[in-house]
Parts: sequence; structure tokens; C-alpha cells
Amino acid sequence: MTETSDLFIIGGGINGCGIARDAAGRGLSVVLAEQGDLAQATSSASTKLFHGGLRYLEYFEFRLVREALAERETLLVAMPHISWPMRFVLPYHPDMRFESDTPTSRLLGIFMPWMRGRRPAWLIRLGLFLYDSLGRGRILPKTRTVDLAHDPAGKPLKPKFRHAYEYSDAWVEDSRLVVLNARDAQARGAKIMVGTRVVSATRANGHWEIVTEGPSGRTTHHARVLVNAGGPWVEDIFRNVARINSTEGVRLVRGSHIVTKRLYDHDKCYFFQGEDGRIIFAIPYEQDFTLIGTTDEDHKGAPGTAVCTPEERDYLLAFASNYFDRPVIREDVVWDYSGVRPLYNDGAKSATAATRDYVLSLDQAGAPMLNVFGGKITTYRRLAESALDRIVPFFPGTKGKWTARVPLPGGDFPHDGVADLTARLQGAHPYLSAYHAGRLIRAYGTEAMVILGDARSLADLGRDFGATLTEREVHWLISREYARQAADIVWRRSKLGLRMTAQQIDALEAFMTGRILTAEQTGTYI
Ligand SMILES: Cc1cc2nc3c(=O)[nH]c(=O)nc-3n(C[C@H](O)[C@H](O)[C@H](O)COP(=O)(O)OP(=O)(O)OC[C@H]3O[C@@H](n4cnc5c(N)ncnc54)[C@H](O)[C@@H]3O)c2cc1C
Repeated sequence: MTETSDLFIIGGGINGCGIARDAAGRGLSVVLAEQGDLAQATSSASTKLFHGGLRYLEYFEFRLVREALAERETLLVAMPHISWPMRFVLPYHPDMRFESDTPTSRLLGIFMPWMRGRRPAWLIRLGLFLYDSLGRGRILPKTRTVDLAHDPAGKPLKPKFRHAYEYSDAWVEDSRLVVLNARDAQARGAKIMVGTRVVSATRANGHWEIVTEGPSGRTTHHARVLVNAGGPWVEDIFRNVARINSTEGVRLVRGSHIVTKRLYDHDKCYFFQGEDGRIIFAIPYEQDFTLIGTTDEDHKGAPGTAVCTPEERDYLLAFASNYFDRPVIREDVVWDYSGVRPLYNDGAKSATAATRDYVLSLDQAGAPMLNVFGGKITTYRRLAESALDRIVPFFPGTKGKWTARVPLPGGDFPHDGVADLTARLQGAHPYLSAYHAGRLIRAYGTEAMVILGDARSLADLGRDFGATLTEREVHWLISREYARQAADIVWRRSKLGLRMTAQQIDALEAFMTGRILTAEQTGTYI
């Protein structure tokens, strides 16, 4: 029989790992089980923005927007390697259409009925002014107007777009964010189990008895509080794993992205408002690519089955082609991905309108169970704090909030210090190309130095798997970052899958299979 932990967390997405880190740092004993790889579901399929959600202002979701805006700068400081500021160009044109049943639409309908489905330029400027004021930070520059006829941002666009607004939000490497939270939780005492599915959870004598199936077979765990951070599986977990009846539910809304060859030369993103009332982003991605998304479709199948359908791909291509001078075509697409938003089922009419806010629901019909619905990558740290607010009353004497000012692993350097750190790494390891050094700093921050250690040449880093991935880095990812398969490394710990051939990925898989077998036989990695 295992010891009784304070918390058992189901789900290794951003919410499960964020809660695990916060709780472990407060001294609670924590066990987390993830059925596959960390961030394998929604938390690696996002648009990867730390953003306030400009369009949620349309829905008067002021608390959500204010909390998210204020949070951006806290996060930029805590993880300057995996997140950075971005400027967004929002071209203005009278053809743009907005959802007609938002609170803003209804209000505008009373005072300016002739503007149905449209927004005057002054209202967009006002929205951005509100966005700046609610944010009130020191790092991110404020909104400005852009003359597209003379600004480089106008160059790739159709000439009919003459004016734009430019505002700030931030980028984050979503799946690395998850793994760094898991690592920090582990460093503070949490036990993180990947490839471990929770098959049942039962209340027994004021505790939870949890059965998992993982690499070492079936295991029974005991915990005082159960946290259900199953994302799109949240409802499946309380109904079928814990066998709890509830009127609450989750609404699954699929969002797909396409990745194309790089479509333009500058480093800004575009915010495109469509003629159907929806918006999409076009974002510079992994240096040589452009990320375009997202869609918004009610998802009917199992959460794990989300794929970008040909219709969604064509929709995104047509949407972007309304703005770019050169049409974006199928042949430009090199990759796509899809994820499912686990939204709290509040009976909203359309997929776009369903609340993006998170809901924490505590079931106390016996040992406590906290169910986590919704949430954004941006608010994961605040969500974890709110979750702990609900949990700590069961553990009198637990320490208070702490995560706002503590960097994630590798993030202990100034928020604008990436160029300096990269130069230092290249100084110490002159055999690295600029791309290789930059990639390592963006992935590992100050820990890049630790990974390279005393290597004096590329050969010292061992086998070369392609696209600058070396054996030394693979060892780190297996032994420190819970990677078990090639896909964990090339699609989640990194995006090197965009640059590696199928043969190179197969060779990595074969190499890892040998290593993981050794790990499972001996109990240690490598
Ligand atoms: C298309 C799209 C774009 C988005 N863009 C943004 C954005 O730009 N910015 C932003 O802030 N937010 C964004 N979001 C929202 C954000 O991605 C999600 O809110 C967040 O990732 C949800 O995380 P989670 O931990 O709740 O769920 P998940 O990441 O899905 O994690 C749940 C985990 O639970 C595991 N699990 C389920 N059942 C079991 C079981 N029985 N045993 C063990 N493990 C189990 C699953 O395998 C999964 O890994 C976006 C979402 C989507 C879909």
C-alpha cells in the first residue's frame, strides 16, 4: 500500500502541472498522473499566446481580460526563455464583420442600428485603449495606429488595407511551459507519473483510493484530496472514473491551426477580423514558418480524436487569403494540429460565445474532489492559486501564495536578457551555430549551460539526430523532462519535427526505445 498523499492530481496539462507546482511549493505532498505525455492534449495545441483576449471585451468579460492582461508581465518575467512580447497588427476595413449577438453588438444596435454587425473605427480604438488601461504594465508597449501604405506591416497585405492598429500581447511555448511546471513541482517534492492512466477513484474512510495503470502495472494510491484536471476529459473523469453524478458538464470546442512556409519577412503578428464575425491570427513561427489559426467548432468525438479537417484547413487558407496579397494555398501548408477547448457548459448559443473563463467546482460529498473546467494558458498560475484557495482549508497551516515571483527552471535571468545569454553560450561553446545556440537558450534558458557542460566540440555532444538535436540533449529530455518517445521530443519538448525527416525521427525513436527499456528495467534513465 502506498502512503497517503495530500493531493492526487489527474491530468498533466497546464492546469494539473500548475496546481502541482503551487501545491508542492506550499509543502503539500502531491502525486500527479498523466495518461500519456505531459501536454499531449489541449496544452500543446493552443495558439500559444499569453493574451488578455481582445475579443472577449465584446462579451464584457472584464474580470477574465483584466486578470489575463495583468498576468502577462508576471509570466514574462518568470520565464523569459520560453515567452516574449509580440506586436499584433489589426488592419481596419469596413468589410470586417463582428458577431451580432454579443453584448457590444446589442448595445451598438440601440444607438447606431445602421452599424449592425460592424464596428466603427473609434470603437476599436476605444477597445484597444481599454485593453492598454486594464493591462497597465511596464514591459509591453502600448497601442499605436499604423499607416499600412508606408509601414513594412502593410507590404504583404492587399492594397485595400490602408490603416491598422498595433497592440501588444505575448508568446509562450505552451508545451514547454507544462514540462517546466512539472519539473519544478518535482524539484519541490511532487511525484510526476507519465504514461499512467487513472482508471478508478473511490471514496473510502474519508480518503480517496485511486487505481492507476502505468509502466509498472496496476497501482493503488491514497490521497486526502482529488484534483480532476483532466481538461477535455474532466466530465468523463467525474462520471466514469469517480462515478459521481453531476448536473455540470463540459463543452468541447475544437480549434485547429495550420503551419505554412514563412509568408512574410517582419516579426509582427496579424489579427484578422473576418467577414463571418470570427477572428484568426497569423504569427511568425519557428523562424521559417507562419502559424495560422484558429477555428471554433463544436467537437462531437472523443477528446483525443481532434484533427484539423480539410474543411478547417481550407477555411483558414481562404480567411488568410482575404488579407494577404499573395493567396495562401494548400501547397504552402507543412503541418497542422488541433485541440479541444474544455469549456464549462454554461448553455451558450454558439461555440465562439461559450465562456472562456475557468470554473472550479468542489465536490464535498465525502473526501473532497476539485473539478477544473476551462481556463487559459495565460491564467494557469492564477487558476492554480484559486484552486489552492479551495484546497488549503483542508490543510491548516499551509503556506500562502508564492509563484508570482519565482522563475521557472532556466528562467533565472532578466526578461530582456535572451541576446546576452545566447552570446554567453556561444562564447563558451563557439562550435555552436547561431541557430543552435539561440534554440537552446529559447528552450532551456540558463540550463542550456548545464546541458552542454564541458563539451568542447559538436562531437562531444554525441550522436547528431538532425536539425541540431544531439544525443546530449536527448539524454537531458529523457532523464529530466519525462520524454519517452520521439514524438514527445520533436513535437512537444521542441518543434524540431518541422525540420527533421521521417527517417531521422524513426532513428530517434529506435534510439529512445533502447534507452527507455533500460530505464524501466533498472528504474533509472540512461
Ligand atoms: C485551439 C486552442 C487555442 C488556444 N489558444 C490559447 C492561447 O493562445 N492562449 C491561452 O491562454 N489559452 C489558449 N487556449 C486554452 C488552453 O490551451 C487550455 O485552456 C489549456 O491548455 C487547458 O489545459 P488543461 O490542463 O485543462 O487540459 P489538457 O492540456 O487537455 O490536460 C488534461 C490532461 O489530462 C489527461 N488525462 C485525461 N484523463 C486522464 C486519466 N484518466 N488519467 C490520467 N490522465 C488523464 C490528458 O491526457 C491530458 O493531458 C487554447 C485552446 C485551444 C483548444
